[in-house]
Amino acid sequence: MKIKALGTGSAFARPPLYNASLLIETKAQKRFLVDCGNSVPLGLDKAGLGPKDLDGILITHIHLDHIGGLEEIAFKNMYMLGGHKTPLIAPKAVIEGLKKRLMPALWRDHTGRLTLEDYFQVKAVDPDKSYKLGDFSYTFIPVKHVLAFPSYAIYFKTPRRRTFFSADAMFDAELITRMAKISDVIIYDTQLFTGGVHCSLEELQTLPKEIKKKILCHHYGNNYKQFKPAPMKWLKQGQVI
Ligand SMILES: [Zn+2]
Repeated sequence: MKIKALGTGSAFARPPLYNASLLIETKAQKRFLVDCGNSVPLGLDKAGLGPKDLDGILITHIHLDHIGGLEEIAFKNMYMLGGHKTPLIAPKAVIEGLKKRLMPALWRDHTGRLTLEDYFQVKAVDPDKSYKLGDFSYTFIPVKHVLAFPSYAIYFKTPRRRTFFSADAMFDAELITRMAKISDVIIYDTQLFTGGVHCSLEELQTLPKEIKKKILCHHYGNNYKQFKPAPMKWLKQGQVI
């Protein structure tokens, strides 16, 4: 299993940074996308990939910088790819949120309302439960982000590498410390200023050095080069870990 940073940008980042997303490739050459924000279809274009090249899409929460590209994929599936249905994997609460946010735009008319299942193979999973996918397992883990709806991190595990991907999360020293004990790499939300619903670089710097050495910072703004994350590192767009 290889994890590629398809996008490392925040909600407000502009190209060349795309919205935070991962592309996972398994030994059997299956590909899974993690999160699909507004600018992620541009990142997929750059990687030469379309909906049919994806064996699944995992979604962590319903902010548009994590789901805004799904409408394009849904319409491509329905109208350009003969009804192809990309597997869509998320915790039940996220699936319910997707139905509310995506569906009004995906209904064809008032007489024949379509469902999310008409566009995707929907798989609703339980948080804190491990599922196998190709040569890795994944577990959605609840994180603190906004109060309005649930948000999740994902813990990826292979016999060789354990990776904790926070997606969007506030600073949570207890969670980071707990996950650092069972992770080789931590990809954590890193806002370049403190405040709001994201973890900041300043907050991450308060962690012990041995934990920081495991952290790759993602979900940052275009001005990230003005900041020094050491001993943490930036997760660079296109980087394979
Ligand atoms: Zn968010």
